[in-house]
Amino acid sequence: MTEKLLLDERFKDIEYNLNVIRERIFNAAIKAGRKSEDITLMAVTKTVDPVFINHAIEYGIDLIGENKVQELLSKEEYLHMDNCKAHLIGHLQTNKVKQIVGKVDMIQSVDSIKLAKEIEKQSLNKNVITNCLIEVNIGNEDSKTGLDLSVLEDTIYQISEMKNIKIRGLMTIPPICEENELNRYFSKMHQIFVDISSKKIDNVSMDILSMGMSSDYETAIINGSTLVRVGTSIFGQRIY
Ligand SMILES: *Cc1c(COP(=O)(O)O)cnc(C)c1O
Repeated sequence: MTEKLLLDERFKDIEYNLNVIRERIFNAAIKAGRKSEDITLMAVTKTVDPVFINHAIEYGIDLIGENKVQELLSKEEYLHMDNCKAHLIGHLQTNKVKQIVGKVDMIQSVDSIKLAKEIEKQSLNKNVITNCLIEVNIGNEDSKTGLDLSVLEDTIYQISEMKNIKIRGLMTIPPICEENELNRYFSKMHQIFVDISSKKIDNVSMDILSMGMSSDYETAIINGSTLVRVGTSIFGQRIY
């Protein structure tokens, strides 16, 4: 096949995949007695070539997520972002904060006071307010980033004092586990999300609960997710 045909084929795959995912989101929302408009579909674009990302954007994607600062910045000039926002969803090192603040609409992976302080400092320098989600290590796994539940609330109170950071909600990546256990993790996250919302902390608006990826976004939606981060199911297997 010629390159052009291969490209067309992948474009069609992306369109087909997006149709399927939107339908599944719709159905999961109905099942949970929710409105599908209340659930945002993020296309996770790590390792994906800008030509395919732009195709997904043309096909209605209005939010993309990247893991790495460097990758995000290097793709930026090739992407058609007029009607699309970008979030950083991967672990962020303090020394990279300066490069990313002002470049993304949200940082979903805030997991320490130290990191928040640096985001605050750089946001102040650039005179911007940076939207952030607090990443929670819901499975209490040593291998994972994210805050432990034991320090979550206290950390949120401390970050809420930082004037150039706006906490918008929580993000999590649950352990790899079977459906029942997964339901427990997601529903626990939702409960924590509601708990913290109810405290009405100044400068904190709990409106985003970011959970669910290709393998589990329907389960996440059933349990109250408002933002699902889907990569492989849209673009196919990642080639590193
Ligand atoms: C890669 C990634 C995703 C998407 O994973 P898929 O399984 O490809 O859907 C979601 N969230 C984060 C934080 C990721 O790093």
